[in-house]
Amino acid sequence: MQDLFGRSITYLRLSVTELCNLRCQYCMPAEGICKKRHEDMLTEEEMILAVTAAAQLGVTKVRITGGEPLVKRNILSICEKAAAVPGIRELCMTSNGLRMPELAPSLRAAGVRRVNISLDTLNPERYRFITRIGSLEDALRGIEAALAAGFERVKINTVLIGGFNDTEIRPLAELTQRYPLDVRFIELMPMMDRYVFGPEAFVSCDLVLRALPELRMEGEDGVARVGRLPHAQGRVGLISPLSAHFCAMCNRLRLTADGKIKPCLHAPLEYSVRGQTLEEMRETFMRAAAAKPERHDCLSYDARSQASRPMNRIGG
Ligand code: SAM
Ligand code: SF4
Repeated sequence: MQDLFGRSITYLRLSVTELCNLRCQYCMPAEGICKKRHEDMLTEEEMILAVTAAAQLGVTKVRITGGEPLVKRNILSICEKAAAVPGIRELCMTSNGLRMPELAPSLRAAGVRRVNISLDTLNPERYRFITRIGSLEDALRGIEAALAAGFERVKINTVLIGGFNDTEIRPLAELTQRYPLDVRFIELMPMMDRYVFGPEAFVSCDLVLRALPELRMEGEDGVARVGRLPHAQGRVGLISPLSAHFCAMCNRLRLTADGKIKPCLHAPLEYSVRGQTLEEMRETFMRAAAAKPERHDCLSYDARSQASRPMNRIGG
């Protein structure tokens, strides 16, 4: 599947739920979200049919996301079936890690090859503040469980927030020296109307380069610039949706838990696959790919994303 700008679409981000056991300040409103009617969300069968349609059109990689995928009751069955779809070579997951201690070995056995775990701070009070309800200890236990479960790669996703965790760049990056994992800093994206953060929070990932002068840059890996600290077991990545557009390299579509294909994270365009047959889903994927904009507008504190949904309802 190609879009109108010659980009091959090989990557699908599949959000399996909008619900979450955290309430991160930049992702969800404090009150959480209203639970939708069951019939408004994709069923497991529809999710697998959509993955099959995407695979038939050339998608080879699926990332399971949410909301929090590990609060989904049938998550193991979804993973097992998605991994078994002909053509899917890589099944990955993004999670906050809280339920990894119970689920990591079963996820690995179900065919999940790599996991990204979100962790914005190593300070317990700051963790509680940013997630509103979470405990750092639980998150760290989740990372340890993921490392022990034998995934091919474990990455930490850290949203870089000026005035919040920009003083923690070094200790977070040094996790790559202590553990066989990657740490990726992601610029905060202005997804919602209201934030507790002011304009100073929306900083560039170049801060990481300044905080770590010994970081040896090695090139690019997908949408990340990557480098390595001396004697590190993993890499440090910089993902810069604000300060540097990576739209030219965008090879992905997103499917939301309520069945909408989003051609671009920051555009309001959505194409529904709910209730469709395999053939109809293939057509909808083709239409969504053809509607992929060349690039999204520049984002800043004053120029919010046009996504029309908070992040927990898209999948990151
Ligand atoms: N609950 C899982 C988690 O937190 O990893 C998966 C879903 S979450 C929406 C996916 C990723 O999006 C997380 O790494 C999260 O930090 C990131 N994210 C959410 N809102 C964001 C924002 N406004 N700017 C940048 N990243 C954001
Ligand atoms: Fe939940 Fe992930 Fe959003 Fe945090 S970033 S509220 S863990 S979905």
